[in-house]
Amino acid sequence: MVQGGFIVSVFDLVFPRRCVSCGIFGRYFCAACRFKVHRIPSNESICPVCERPAIDGATHPRCRTRYTLDGLTSFFRYEGIVRVAVRTLKYRFVSDLGEEFISLVSDECIQSVLLRAGEHAVLVPVPLHRTRLLERGFNQAEILAVALSGRLHLPIRTDMLCRTKKTAPQVGMKKREARIKNMTAVFAVRSGIDLKNAHVVLFDDVCTTGATLRSAAGALKRSGAVSVWAVTMAR
Ligand SMILES: [Zn+2]
Ligand SMILES: [Zn+2]
Repeated sequence: MVQGGFIVSVFDLVFPRRCVSCGIFGRYFCAACRFKVHRIPSNESICPVCERPAIDGATHPRCRTRYTLDGLTSFFRYEGIVRVAVRTLKYRFVSDLGEEFISLVSDECIQSVLLRAGEHAVLVPVPLHRTRLLERGFNQAEILAVALSGRLHLPIRTDMLCRTKKTAPQVGMKKREARIKNMTAVFAVRSGIDLKNAHVVLFDDVCTTGATLRSAAGALKRSGAVSVWAVTMAR
């Protein structure tokens, strides 16, 4: 079925696309609401270790150890329509929402990630714990990563990293220390995976405290990854 030059799938007829913010039919981010998306300018980037301002999100030399993240790029502020989109993706399997979401990322941001991570990097979405994946049926970070890999032209690897510990949701935890403790030894690299000389773009939907990303980066680097640059949709 062709309508206005676009192919309309059966899925669109059963679940018509509506703007996640104002509810108007047509797309998940309507023409008016996509202007309300707050991009994070590069001069407001933060170091993923101390969370203080840092040029382009590169980890400060003083914060750097062998196993820390090399930097962090977050595309949008976690508020308004971006917050709603992230939450919608967590509870409903809508892969085309992922694609529309990724299309809001500027070419400039895509280029800066490539510059930092290198053109031979692999894209690794932060995995869910096996039981949570079974409950939910999909990993929202993976849905977004599929769309992002099309923009970055980097391959996705979902076989490298696994989540060995089921953690309590970060948002429910008040104290920073509790959240960090919650995230120790959560990830492991699967046996038989060789990460020597690997450059990794570690991807997640949201960065709240950075504890998840730091923990995953630690596991990747202990297994030999040369660099790990974190990317999140929002912060
Ligand atoms: Zn709208
Ligand atoms: Zn720092």
